[in-house]
Amino acid sequence: MIPSPFEYVKVRSVDEALAALAEHGEDAKLLAGGHSLLPIMKLRLAIPTVLIDIGGIPGLSYVRVDGEQVAIGAGTRHYVLERDEVARTEVPLLPHVAGRVGDPQVRHRGTLGGTVAHSDPASDLPTALLALGGTVVLQGPQGRREVPVTEFWTGFFETAMSPEEMVVELRVPRTGSIGWGYEKFTRRENDWPIVAAAAVDGRVALANMAGMVVRATATEEALARGASIAEAAELADQGTSPGADMHADADYRRHLARLLTRRALEKAAGA
Ligand SMILES: Cc1cc2nc3c(=O)[nH]c(=O)nc-3n(C[C@H](O)[C@H](O)[C@H](O)COP(=O)(O)OP(=O)(O)OC[C@H]3O[C@@H](n4cnc5c(N)ncnc54)[C@H](O)[C@@H]3O)c2cc1C
Repeated sequence: MIPSPFEYVKVRSVDEALAALAEHGEDAKLLAGGHSLLPIMKLRLAIPTVLIDIGGIPGLSYVRVDGEQVAIGAGTRHYVLERDEVARTEVPLLPHVAGRVGDPQVRHRGTLGGTVAHSDPASDLPTALLALGGTVVLQGPQGRREVPVTEFWTGFFETAMSPEEMVVELRVPRTGSIGWGYEKFTRRENDWPIVAAAAVDGRVALANMAGMVVRATATEEALARGASIAEAAELADQGTSPGADMHADADYRRHLARLLTRRALEKAAGA
């Protein structure tokens, strides 16, 4: 399918991007790597009349330590995050998961800000970010604000971001040598997860078990009470609402959530 006609605007700074968003309103969409937006435009699930290309904004791609956190620019592409030495040392879950996103072409175009803003419940990096905790840094006409990741994703393709704002940075706690695990179940190596589970520091997040990425709160509470990994993982699908599609029905997804949570927790514990 061919997308509807649109106007193309290339911006060189965050201020220019925000001015273009203010000028064109809800008819406009930011274009980062284009690897989620363009497919849904081709399916006519999104019909923006203006695309604001933020892919060339200098200074939006970085990974750096800032106190007890790691700050990552929204324009950081998945393959950059996958190879970044600071990320590998300070928050190794993220570069590992970046390396599990799609295939090399996808990883060379897709950006962290794009996958966060898109709010696809099946996406890998948001699942890891939700397990890590931390914040999404937004910039808009009123300046900057930070939204905890637990409050950012509000539904299928929906976030707490307003149409005049953009994601400029992600901030996550430095986990260093704390154990972590990421289990992604796919039919083929490069596919999206049918279900995925991320575990770090007693927190567990799941992909594809609801309209957005979600925490396995019953599992987390059981672990905090001193339950074994096996007992806690049996609760992983509690409170979730998985859908059914050609790859898996809801019951199978629930089974996967419990199984992958156990494996991710075991890896995190070094078992
Ligand atoms: C073949 C294929 C396989 C894939 N496999 C996987 C996979 O296995 N796992 C996975 O997680 N993902 C997968 N993806 C998705 C990929 O990771 C995307 O790159 C990513 O989800 C979106 O990033 P992007 O930079 O391409 O965003 P875009 O497509 O450019 O934008 C996505 C949305 O976010 C908005 N946006 C972009 N940047 C910002 C910003 N800074 N602030 C506010 N809004 C913004 C856009 O307006 C748009 O609404 C796949 C994609 C393809 C095409």
